[in-house]
Amino acid sequence: STKLMAGKRGLIMGLANDKSIAWGIARNCADHGAELAFSYQGEALKKRVQPLAGQLGSDLLVECDVAEEDSLDRLFDTLAQSWDRLDFIVHAIGFSDKEQLRGRYVDTTRDNFRMTMDISVYSFTAVVQRAARMMAEGGSALTLTYYGAEKVMPHYNVMGVAKAALEASVKYLAEDLGKDGIRVNAISAGPIKTLAASGIGDFRYIMKWNELNSPLRRNVNQDEVGKSALYLLSDLASGVTGEVHHVDAGYHSVGMKAVDAPDI
Ligand code: NAD
Repeated sequence: STKLMAGKRGLIMGLANDKSIAWGIARNCADHGAELAFSYQGEALKKRVQPLAGQLGSDLLVECDVAEEDSLDRLFDTLAQSWDRLDFIVHAIGFSDKEQLRGRYVDTTRDNFRMTMDISVYSFTAVVQRAARMMAEGGSALTLTYYGAEKVMPHYNVMGVAKAALEASVKYLAEDLGKDGIRVNAISAGPIKTLAASGIGDFRYIMKWNELNSPLRRNVNQDEVGKSALYLLSDLASGVTGEVHHVDAGYHSVGMKAVDAPDI
């Protein structure tokens, strides 16, 4: 069979609308036979997330604010009532004060630094902790990161520092949970127009730059991230853990682009 996810159950966290990276991942997993549950942030998002989940045959939806320990506990308690086992989780969540995703990193406040690290970094560890208890037969966990963790990108600021910590936590989690057959990986996605991305200053310029300077000379989309996620979440990647996999049209591999005209 070509159904890579047949018989697998997964939790998708971070679906806000049909532009979300989580939607590209969920669709690819469902197309390949996965049974899905969704968590969403706050009741206001429910009316958007419910019909999307429904399109993929899922009616297992749970409200969860990852900043709250109680909320995370309730999510996994609810999940355990319906499912005796979990095979994969997708963490597509990040947040920082919009006012600090423009201007200079040096101006980051302590409060926003704390909040950004809590929601964008610690929450992945908090989720994996709980998910691992339902993964007695092994499993796969995936988070989303960005090149701003590795190199300075305009306006990414405190989110870049948070993504660096998130990438390090992927490796520590992979080591801790490897002996239980649980794999932990990240996808470093190129810039994609989503709700979260619209908060970043000069985002259109960043997208244009990536389009002009990546080896494929274009940007990637949610579906391409979804296809690579399918690989990492399925048994195709059974030998892969602690990895940060770039889905960015190759942008991360270029130091400097040659001019197309030979003698500038
Ligand atoms: P999005 O706005 O569709 O998704 C972000 C999600 O985070 C939303 O569903 C939001 O509800 C959720 N969230 C924020 N705070 C939360 C909280 N306290 N509790 C629960 N959920 C919370 O945007 P997206 O671009 O799809 O973002 C998904 C992930 O991909 C993020 O980690 C983002 O940093 C990462 N990423 C995005 C890009 C890009 O260019 N869009 C590139 C690389 C990585």
